[in-house]
Amino acid sequence: MGIHTFQDLLHCFPHRYIDRSTTFSIANLPQNNAEVQLIGRITDLQIIPQKRGKRLSVQVEDGSGTLELVWFRGYKWIMEGLRKNEPYVIFGRLNWFNGGVSIPHPELELLSQFEKGPKIALKPLYPSTEKLTTRGVSQRIMQKMMTELMKATQSGFTESLSLTIIEQWQLMPKKDALFQIHFPQSHNALSKAQFRLKFEELFYIQLQLLKKNLDRKQKIKGYRFSTVGDHFNQFYNEVLPFDLTDSQKKVLKEIRTDMGTGAQMNRLLQGDVGSGKTIVALMAILLALDNGYQGCIMAPTEILAQQHYQSIERLLKKMDIRLGLLTGSVKEKERKPLLEQLAQGELQILVGTHALLEDRVKFKNLGLVIIDEQHRFGVAQRAKLWKKNTLPPHVLVMTATPIPRTLAMSLYGDLDQSVIDELPPGRKPVKTVHRTDKNRLKVFQFIREEIAQGRQVYIVYPLIQESEKMDYKDLMDGYESIARDFPAPKYQISIVHGQMNAEDKAYEMQRFVEGKTQIMVATTVIEVGVNVPNASVMIIESAERFGLSQLHQLRGRVGRGNAQSYCILMSGPKRSEEATMRLQTMVDHNDGFKIAEVDLQLRGPGDLMGTQQSGLLQLKIADLSKDQQLLKTARAWAVKILKEDPLLQQPENAPIRKTYTALGAYKNIWNYIS
Ligand code: ADP
Ligand code: MG
Repeated sequence: MGIHTFQDLLHCFPHRYIDRSTTFSIANLPQNNAEVQLIGRITDLQIIPQKRGKRLSVQVEDGSGTLELVWFRGYKWIMEGLRKNEPYVIFGRLNWFNGGVSIPHPELELLSQFEKGPKIALKPLYPSTEKLTTRGVSQRIMQKMMTELMKATQSGFTESLSLTIIEQWQLMPKKDALFQIHFPQSHNALSKAQFRLKFEELFYIQLQLLKKNLDRKQKIKGYRFSTVGDHFNQFYNEVLPFDLTDSQKKVLKEIRTDMGTGAQMNRLLQGDVGSGKTIVALMAILLALDNGYQGCIMAPTEILAQQHYQSIERLLKKMDIRLGLLTGSVKEKERKPLLEQLAQGELQILVGTHALLEDRVKFKNLGLVIIDEQHRFGVAQRAKLWKKNTLPPHVLVMTATPIPRTLAMSLYGDLDQSVIDELPPGRKPVKTVHRTDKNRLKVFQFIREEIAQGRQVYIVYPLIQESEKMDYKDLMDGYESIARDFPAPKYQISIVHGQMNAEDKAYEMQRFVEGKTQIMVATTVIEVGVNVPNASVMIIESAERFGLSQLHQLRGRVGRGNAQSYCILMSGPKRSEEATMRLQTMVDHNDGFKIAEVDLQLRGPGDLMGTQQSGLLQLKIADLSKDQQLLKTARAWAVKILKEDPLLQQPENAPIRKTYTALGAYKNIWNYIS
């Protein structure tokens, strides 16, 4: 469980508490599978053979009735420790079955022992594993260890926050909080302890992230892009096909300022789907070029990299800029000259996938790195791009869809943040509906009407790793039935899926982009970034199997032109409650920031961002989906303190300095806070 030291053990906080102020009598047990505490004597013990294995069956009575306690594992060891006819405090979850009731794997403690133990109003439940339980490290043992630990340390913990913070927020002192979290004397004391420890956890994570940002600015020199030159100006005045939105201008200004300070830029750019992040990124690259540097864009998929490459190529057609594309499928024959040109600085902009990270890829002077759809890359990969130069390039990280504020503050808390919070003018919100198979004929009719008006249609099928084969079959069945209903030559259909090679994918994609096909049948490989403004209908098959951000991302493929666009979520009749919530959220909301918040509430922070980066999100006591306000407060205090006392030298901040100095990686923040 990651517990190596007493310190670790002390900070293994209960994940739940049970009110133990009530004792039930067997005659008046609740009629559901509740957790209960009762006091009773053992009248009989026996091992009973069953279909598979055996069970230990223990009869207890309390004067009002009798009840069976059962164990299916570890029973020999348990049986030896049990004494007949003595009163026990019994605790466990009821199991009602065929009118009878039992408690499987309860906890038992002799009443005489129980009365000697610490008086607590709430019983803590510690995180545990099956292995620990079968080896006898039960909740009771955990509690006993905590008791010993508290005795041994005499609650001699030093304060780790400053007096100002403690007074301002009326925080419980550290030593009391650590005691109450393990041995709550009352509900009130427990919630005060939780508040204090949550605050502390969030505060130190934020302090670390902010200080990392501050230190980086002071210590890591970056290229100073002081000029706005011909590339940028020509693009702005002659090429840019529209006016930038105010939000885009604001963000571009933030980026320009960053890149002019002489420190390395590390910025996160968030914006809803279709808010126009790409153009901002491109203009930032033009600034790099104007100052004599190269720029690169790294995208998570081959299709996306190609798409970026093509749209940038189109935009820069009239300008004298050399652009390259590097993905896994670029053949050695082309790759070699490409890499040479890159190293000599002849190539100014390189677009690509992970392939950019390879050691052979050497730039002459890489000045700016754009990482698109960052959450698919690990932090380590981000760092790898930095190391391509002596001075680290400026880094702009972009997210595909907005991520909730609390997660942005945690995952990207060390980055400066920019938000594009408006869509280009003239966009009509996509109309979203939820339909089932019953409506299929109508849906197809609707597709025909849209195509008759010159529009194009996406039909997307799920693709998840575990059942790739089944998904493939779904996709192919779907394709065939669509081909029947939309026969050639009147209708042309593209198909793109993960099992095709990159060339075929690009070919099919290209036919759709050029309007040669009206329908694109695809798996989620087209999820992000694809930009075909003439497409006006997005049909998502088995929509109940998609996550919210994926649905939103897919919906973002339409509504990119001026026509009214539609998103039709198809689902089977059977859905989980959560899936229904997701679909309803999509129908009700168009705003990606709002959808991200709902997603966080439904799934929790770890699942939301994928496993790669969840280390930062696995907090011991605070919960990023619930403690949003507290996180904002903690961050605000960290900002304030660093502003007033960046080196934490004021006597007042001595406890903070001491704790901060002891902090290592943010993953195990509690290892260092004592
Ligand atoms: P995303 O933020 O999802 O990456 P894109 O950068 O792909 O969005 O932009 C979506 C579409 O909006 C593109 O076709 C782009 O050319 C267009 N666009 C971007 N900015 C503007 C603007 N200020 N006015 C009009 N259209 C814009
Ligand atoms: Mg994009």
